[in-house]
Amino acid sequence: MKALVLEEYNKLVYKDFPDPVTADDEVLVKVESVGICGSDVHGMDGSSGRRVPPLVMGHEAAGTIISLGDQVKGWKEGDRVTFDSTIYKLDDWYTRKGLYNLSDHRMVLGVSPGDWKKHGAFAEYVSIPQHILYRIPDQVSFTQAAMVEPVAVAAHAVALTPLEWNDTAVVVGSGMIGLFVIQVLRARGCGKVIAIDLEDDKLELARELGADHVLNPKKVDVKKEVLALTGNRGADVAFEVVGVSETVAIAIDSARKGATVTLVGNLSPSAAFPLQKVVTRQIRLQGSCAICGEYPAVLDMIARKEVNVDAILSAEAPLSEGADWFKRLYNKEPGLIKVVLKP
Ligand SMILES: [Zn+2]
Repeated sequence: MKALVLEEYNKLVYKDFPDPVTADDEVLVKVESVGICGSDVHGMDGSSGRRVPPLVMGHEAAGTIISLGDQVKGWKEGDRVTFDSTIYKLDDWYTRKGLYNLSDHRMVLGVSPGDWKKHGAFAEYVSIPQHILYRIPDQVSFTQAAMVEPVAVAAHAVALTPLEWNDTAVVVGSGMIGLFVIQVLRARGCGKVIAIDLEDDKLELARELGADHVLNPKKVDVKKEVLALTGNRGADVAFEVVGVSETVAIAIDSARKGATVTLVGNLSPSAAFPLQKVVTRQIRLQGSCAICGEYPAVLDMIARKEVNVDAILSAEAPLSEGADWFKRLYNKEPGLIKVVLKP
């Protein structure tokens, strides 16, 4: 088959690659659409340590089942499917507690941190364990389904956050995940949604997708503005979707006493944060990792057009041109958010 292979750091090559081997409990999927994730772009240069080459990356994908292992039940050739990015163990202590995203020895599709490797979907074919498959509703296209994964990441963060009807939320970071957090918060019954980002074009999109107010820290004093918008109290919940000290501090500063600040972004491995503000204002810091069961709800929301994924799609291109698109994303070309490749 053809695949887009990370041969060495910063070197992606579209070339022949061995077909995946399908285990008894797996199906072989012909990939129709696969999204380039920020973590792939950051992983490409070796800085994250989670894309050790040689590797076929790609964990946001959708396609058609073309063959099935002997033990697969409930699926057939021709089924349109998407799948979780986490390949978790079924016989795991965490999985049995309903926390499969935290299960020990879990693997992520298209990721290789050194001690394990699972080739992903920047390829014509990928083999997928049956227990992470999801059926795509008829109204949802393959390309829309390839964006379910990042929406589900956003939905998981919202699901972990104690929210009451009409609560005010601050979302720090209006990149792809931030834009999905905003949309899921709208669907979840939030009152005021305040989006924060350094780039005005992203804030414009945030407003189109449901933010009531947008704030650019380069132009305004965010803390002052949030207080003015919340009766001098601060937001009931805040989401941090970047992952550096400055944005963590903005999220904490925006939150009212007793609020939850949910941390999704993790660009830097560690971040300083205002400890005394968190303690004396009794703020709850909630980490959010990946996805835990949000796929079916998100597929329904996309089918009902409650979440708009099309607005985030910047381009669809052939997989053979993937290396060039990675370069453009790596160089932070303005206006590019989500690029989906078609094998
Ligand atoms: Zn991703």
